[in-house]
Amino acid sequence: MSGWGALPEAAPGSDVAVIGAGVVGLAVAYRLAGSGKRVVVVEKEKGPGTGVTAGQANVIHVVQLPFGSLKSKLARRGNHMYDDLCRELGVRLNRMPALLVVNRWLAVPVLLAAFAYVKLELGKEFRVSLMRGSSLRKAEPSLAMGVIGGLKVDGYGTVDVHELVSRLADASTARGVTFRFGCKVTSADAREEAVTLKTSCGEIRARVVVNAAGLYSDEVAAAFGVDLGKLEPGLGVMAVCSGLSLKCIVAPLPLGTGSRTKGGALIPATDGTTIVGPTLRVTQSKEDRAHTEEDLAQLTAKFGPLLKADWKAARVYAGTRPLSPTGDFIIDYRPQKRVVNLVGIESPGLTAAPAIAEMVERMIAGPGQ
Ligand SMILES: Cc1cc2nc3c(=O)[nH]c(=O)nc-3n(C[C@H](O)[C@H](O)[C@H](O)COP(=O)(O)OP(=O)(O)OC[C@H]3O[C@@H](n4cnc5c(N)ncnc54)[C@H](O)[C@@H]3O)c2cc1C
Repeated sequence: MSGWGALPEAAPGSDVAVIGAGVVGLAVAYRLAGSGKRVVVVEKEKGPGTGVTAGQANVIHVVQLPFGSLKSKLARRGNHMYDDLCRELGVRLNRMPALLVVNRWLAVPVLLAAFAYVKLELGKEFRVSLMRGSSLRKAEPSLAMGVIGGLKVDGYGTVDVHELVSRLADASTARGVTFRFGCKVTSADAREEAVTLKTSCGEIRARVVVNAAGLYSDEVAAAFGVDLGKLEPGLGVMAVCSGLSLKCIVAPLPLGTGSRTKGGALIPATDGTTIVGPTLRVTQSKEDRAHTEEDLAQLTAKFGPLLKADWKAARVYAGTRPLSPTGDFIIDYRPQKRVVNLVGIESPGLTAAPAIAEMVERMIAGPGQ
């Protein structure tokens, strides 16, 4: 099968069944419905956006290491798509720079190396500047005097993910998408013409299935007989501060080690609060959202020294990422099995969501279409 056509008008079923109504599944459904496909979204919970999407930090990112990875490329593309998407949906997008700062002279070589590297990799798409502490404090007056220098990277943003999810669901419905909430997909039978999904509320038939099941996408892929490795749950804890209002995202350099985390940040949320975090620790259960005093102490120790004034958490929450077995997004189309598996859509999956949708649309359209 080199591509796929829409089902004839009279045929039962949908052109595409999307499994999962997180931000990625919704972005896919919205995009495909926009190009005339009959789309059904199958979600095990009672409403959209209650999975990984519910427990994240709301940042539209620019810097994602390693720069050559698929997640970095899709985040950059997604970042550029957010202005139009948010305008279309009527969702607030607050654009702002990120300040990646150092507060120890010993870290200055790291700063200089980071500047050369980030400028080389991103400089054509986003403005990257090297700044002294005094200039950084003009951009972000809350920064501590101990901050001696940093990078200013333009092009970041924040959204309210709950607003985004609800507008995406409404706009998808307006484009004709059908939602089947409270329906858990338990198995799949792919035949020549279509796939039949067995769900807790009956069978659903579609020409192509997009597996956007977040933390469970590895298990849904296995139901199609596709082994893409096992996801590891990576718990992230975030604090919300109400008395702290920032103009820029602030993160300490060096960023998180390896490809698993960017190390968290101080994030000005769209409601005027500041999100601090997230942390990262591998946990045993995909449903784990528990946080401890130790998590909060870790956030205070890491981010406290970057600010002039002390901060206090008004609320603490946690989310769990589907850590990819390859360290990168896995976007895998099996035409014979009629399924696109989106596995390991860890951070920055919110940023990348519109670009993932664009990639899925191209993949299932096949060559020459
Ligand atoms: C702590 C933390 C902070 C983050 N911060 C950011 C950030 O600031 N910026 C950024 O870009 N990204 C961030 N991310 C990453 C981002 O949140 C995720 O990449 C994104 O939300 C993934 O969305 P999704 O739609 O793939 O998954 P989900 O939101 O989990 O959606 C999958 C859906 O599938 C459903 N489902 C699962 N199995 C089945 C089944 N068998 N049948 C039917 N339905 C099923 C689930 O109920 C769920 O609703 C963060 C993640 C975490 C955990």
